[in-house]
Amino acid sequence: MNCQRLLERIPLYAFQDMLLKELLFPSRCLVCRRISKDVICNECLSKVSLIKSPICEICGSPIENDGICYKCKVSPPYFSKARSYALYEGVMRTAIIRFKFEKRKSLGLFLGEMLGKFASRLAWNVDFIVPIPLSKERLKSRGFNQSEILALEVSKILRVPISLSLIRIKETKPSINLNVEERLNNINRAFLLSDNSLKGKRVLLVDDVYTTGATINEAGKTLLERDIKEVRAITLAREL
Ligand SMILES: [Zn+2]
Ligand SMILES: [Zn+2]
Repeated sequence: MNCQRLLERIPLYAFQDMLLKELLFPSRCLVCRRISKDVICNECLSKVSLIKSPICEICGSPIENDGICYKCKVSPPYFSKARSYALYEGVMRTAIIRFKFEKRKSLGLFLGEMLGKFASRLAWNVDFIVPIPLSKERLKSRGFNQSEILALEVSKILRVPISLSLIRIKETKPSINLNVEERLNNINRAFLLSDNSLKGKRVLLVDDVYTTGATINEAGKTLLERDIKEVRAITLAREL
């Protein structure tokens, strides 16, 4: 049936409560593509693998017993705490990939709200929210910084201001094929603080995925070198 004929069959009063667009193109879950009023349907949400304790008190990675993981004991990071909402797999991985690479901003806002609620449950005392920045070139090619979209939602929920004074001066190669040493060199001196507005403040870094922690650690190092009081971090997902 074509659209015109379909329209003729629908009584006019139906439009009072329903947008024509929704009628013809019902909104779908952006993960499983089934019809859903929410950006991610409840069934998909129920499949998100949340990170459960025991986790490392510092970096937040799952460990066998309470305490501090081996990596943090051997080389303590510049941030004092990092936590992630879920594991980077299944629904969460698909959602993040579609948000970033299919440029689904509505997914970003939804995920940002999710991260904001998670941050609010952590009840940390922070003065500023700082998204992990992209380089100018990467920003130009992607069109938006995914961490900034997430950070804006977190900022709304926590009622904590956002600061964009951390900038990226070096884009890192995709770290997927690099070993640990190459990853560290890759990220070394990638960030710069553009002003002194964060001096003496407690900063919450926001990013989409925590992989080795090298990006957040390097950002933390840049901040601490400029007399920031404390750096903590949250990410939506964690790759194990
Ligand atoms: Zn779904
Ligand atoms: Zn750790």
